[in-house]
Amino acid sequence: MTGEAERSPAPTVDLATPGRALAVAAHPDDVEFGCGATLAKWAAAGCVVHHLVCTDGSKGSWDPGQDVADLVAQRRDEQRAAARALGAGGEVAFLGWPDGELEAGLRQRGQVAWWIRRLRPDVVLGHDPWKRYRLHPDHRHAGFLTVDGVVAARDPHFFPEHGVAHHRPAALLLFEADEPDHVERVGEGDLTRKLAALEAHRSQLRSTMSVDVGSPDAAAQLDAFHQRVRARLVEHGALAGVELGEAFKLVADL
Ligand SMILES: [Zn+2]
Repeated sequence: MTGEAERSPAPTVDLATPGRALAVAAHPDDVEFGCGATLAKWAAAGCVVHHLVCTDGSKGSWDPGQDVADLVAQRRDEQRAAARALGAGGEVAFLGWPDGELEAGLRQRGQVAWWIRRLRPDVVLGHDPWKRYRLHPDHRHAGFLTVDGVVAARDPHFFPEHGVAHHRPAALLLFEADEPDHVERVGEGDLTRKLAALEAHRSQLRSTMSVDVGSPDAAAQLDAFHQRVRARLVEHGALAGVELGEAFKLVADL
């Protein structure tokens, strides 16, 4: 046999549109980067999309003189605006753990499980905690909280003090996947809404999108950012032979 038989199978494409989806992120803006176009597509098809953000985003500034309380409030507003730009229509919840200090402990796991039980999503989306050589600890921890939160939410004897019924989602999609095996096909309109949602995170334009608002180069920089996001969707789509997509690790056996 050649290596042909050992090659991983072609990625699956497109889950059925869920009635409810919950995206769990370390920071405001991670959901929009990781799965914004997919959520925009589902929202347009009637899915209620919820956000759960684990940290307060308080490290998200390069300005040493930045007032941290103001930044936290601004980033919450930006996350709500981003959800609207996606057409999300669900809740935007914040656990409020300090940025950079998120831990995947039992208490945090209980919080994520509580939100899964309360919102009863058909699909949960989150960071792939097994992404190799990922530096930011919050992304790893938020990924483990998502996976562990699903396990805790689905079984009735975990966190009985919740006082809310257990809930088993049908599927888990991990973005920034180490071994992507599923692609959600998206269209130009979904890409446009993803970009609008990313730009709603105004405080992050300079640090994560390399757009220096107010500089004469801002328009060109924003265009370059759009091109980078589009290139990523082209790259992800190519995994499944589609024009534009977002790639995930799919865990369907929950
Ligand atoms: Zn992040």
